[in-house]
Amino acid sequence: MVVSKSSIGIGSNSILAGGGLSFAIEEVDIENLIKETLSLGKYLNNRALVNELARGGGKEFEFLRTLGLDLNHRPPLGYTVNLENMRENIGGRILVKKLVQEASKYEKIHFLPHFFVDKILHREDQVSGYSGLIKRVDHALSFRNQCFGYRGGGGIYKRNDNFKRILGDGYTLALEMGLPLIDMEFVQFYPFGMAEPGVPQSMIYLPWQMRPS
Ligand SMILES: Cc1cc2nc3c(=O)[nH]c(=O)nc-3n(C[C@H](O)[C@H](O)[C@H](O)COP(=O)(O)OP(=O)(O)OC[C@H]3O[C@@H](n4cnc5c(N)ncnc54)[C@H](O)[C@@H]3O)c2cc1C
Repeated sequence: MVVSKSSIGIGSNSILAGGGLSFAIEEVDIENLIKETLSLGKYLNNRALVNELARGGGKEFEFLRTLGLDLNHRPPLGYTVNLENMRENIGGRILVKKLVQEASKYEKIHFLPHFFVDKILHREDQVSGYSGLIKRVDHALSFRNQCFGYRGGGGIYKRNDNFKRILGDGYTLALEMGLPLIDMEFVQFYPFGMAEPGVPQSMIYLPWQMRPS
């Protein structure tokens, strides 16, 4: 069961991403990718996670290719989702659409859109489900296992380019369960954006919102 407070495949930062992907494949060797990532992270990185990313990335790349995702080689960045001949001009949107299409083929995968999770239910250390709202009506879901992916909170900043409802709900849910949050100071601030009076605070650039200048 894939749960989201928005429509499935919409309302996430993933569909706003440019579609740039870095993998250790072909000419980029794993040890170099680890070295570069640690250096860019000023050696504050969690080394186990850097290792996992560098060693596991190639496998994910192959998986995306088997889905038929068209990826362009763009050294030194790595790969980007091919935007040529696509009506949408955001790589993340193409990537998410492809993954949702693929998941929809499996009978055992169900989607539950517009379910706003407000609490993780648990008995002692064992997670047992969620409580939340669908159209302002209370619901509860029970699960034996769950994978928790409600992260991101860039929408809380006055000016940002995140989806407007990415407000750090996951951090709250985790904290309320008594889980510690780490590295909260590592927020990416991009050097572009317009801090002009009258310009929307949120800088989301969906193609259908673009206007010719
Ligand atoms: C403009 C922009 C460009 C980017 N470009 C790149 C790029 O080129 N390459 C790259 O690697 N990364 C890029 N990123 C970063 C990348 O988009 C994020 O790191 C990634 O999308 C995070 O994925 P996620 O699954 O954690 O979160 P999201 O994709 O934001 O998904 C979070 C999901 O949780 C759901 N949710 C949240 N709260 C609740 C709740 N209470 N109840 C139920 N559901 C809830 C949301 O509806 C959403 O579906 C970019 C980001 C932005 C904003």
